[in-house]
Amino acid sequence: MATLEWRNPTSEMAIQQFDMAADRLHLDPNVAARLRRPDRALIVSVPTRMDDGRVHVFTGYRVQHNDVLGPFKGGIRYNLEVNLGEVSALAMWMTWKCSLVGLPLGGAKGGIACDPALLSRNELQSMTRRYTAELLNFIGPEVDIPAPDMGTNEQIMAWVMDTYSQHKGHAVPEIVTGKPLDIGGTLGRKEATGRGIVYTIMEAAKHLGIDLTRCTAAVQGFGNVGSVVVKELANIGVKVIGVSDRTGGCYDPKGLPVERLMELASKNHSLEGFPYGEGITNAELLELDCDILIPAALEMQITGQNAPRLKCRILAEGANGPTTLEADAVLKEKGIFVIPDILANAGGVVVSYFEWVQDLQNFFWTEEEVHSKLRDILVKSFRGVLEMSLQQKVDMRLAALMIGIHRVGRAMLWRGLYA
Ligand code: NAD
Repeated sequence: MATLEWRNPTSEMAIQQFDMAADRLHLDPNVAARLRRPDRALIVSVPTRMDDGRVHVFTGYRVQHNDVLGPFKGGIRYNLEVNLGEVSALAMWMTWKCSLVGLPLGGAKGGIACDPALLSRNELQSMTRRYTAELLNFIGPEVDIPAPDMGTNEQIMAWVMDTYSQHKGHAVPEIVTGKPLDIGGTLGRKEATGRGIVYTIMEAAKHLGIDLTRCTAAVQGFGNVGSVVVKELANIGVKVIGVSDRTGGCYDPKGLPVERLMELASKNHSLEGFPYGEGITNAELLELDCDILIPAALEMQITGQNAPRLKCRILAEGANGPTTLEADAVLKEKGIFVIPDILANAGGVVVSYFEWVQDLQNFFWTEEEVHSKLRDILVKSFRGVLEMSLQQKVDMRLAALMIGIHRVGRAMLWRGLYA
């Protein structure tokens, strides 16, 4: 059953983070009142013909938080727990993320409450096409450009692109990002979020004087983001000692065999039955004795309860919103260096932006160009956040939010509130 309430614990957390940054910035109160709420929140019914002939009606959402800087941009999530509150929080974080890394884009997010693992390819295709059809009047290359998120991938984006294009009567590749290369995708998009996380970890290590080749890491989530992080960390000499996904996890203090993990990532997308290391739970993974912890699955995994038991030195947030406000206070006290989500995982939207630009120009870049432009943006953004954090004596999360919100606030004042 759809929940009509856009305020829930996840969106409350996003709003509280916003309030803290807005206070610190002395943000204009009218602008602040506007930014606490989304521009538009859609709930759509998605009737889907199942393989047994029945029609099942799924609930879909699209929340467009703010487009003062440019068209809305944000992923589509397929997960059973998707609800309006979660999507609203994720949309708000997208606004600050795009702004923080200097993109001319606003923030949105969408999703369908479903378990994609239980749907056949036909069912997934029908559901995706009908969801897209429901959003036709609200998305567009200059309006709102979806992308993949948890539970969705390049195939889903291809169906979104095709459905939109069929209704327009011609191919519109720039309607989504994260598409297959063959239909206007960009080189480097699949790896972008994971790579970006590792670039920010390298900057953090430089700042903290840590030699990464002597470090160990644990990664929660082994999907698009988590699996690339594992590979990229191994490439720079970090020992990956723990990995987990929805089926559980594995741990080996001597280091897990990364090549075997990569084979698994490309084949069955699940860690179930992985015969290496010792079996651990998701909760145990977060508390492993490691130098770098990367949550790359769901929100609110690090809480006031488990934060006191975290042993990492760097927490790099691959997932959106993995750390609660109570946990933030504990991490600060423990001296754990947090690379906040809107900075650490911004690589995904940065390369999505590159894809959109290439589609609009019909001119495509090399993989090296994509990687080096991504790296430049993330290193510059990291340094900006660190400088703000040191100057204002605030933690990295607050510093990142302050930069992102300040830019959006300034743009709103120029444009006026049209109240
Ligand atoms: P994905 O669907 O490819 O993978 C999700 C992973 O999380 C899977 O391994 C799944 O088994 C695991 N998981 C799901 N529920 C879990 C649970 N309860 N406990 C432990 N693990 C669980 O998704 P993804 O694209 O890798 O996204 C992961 C996170 O990164 C999300 O928070 C997403 O919003 C964020 N993110 C993704 C991108 C992107 O480009 N894909 C960009 C920025 C942020």
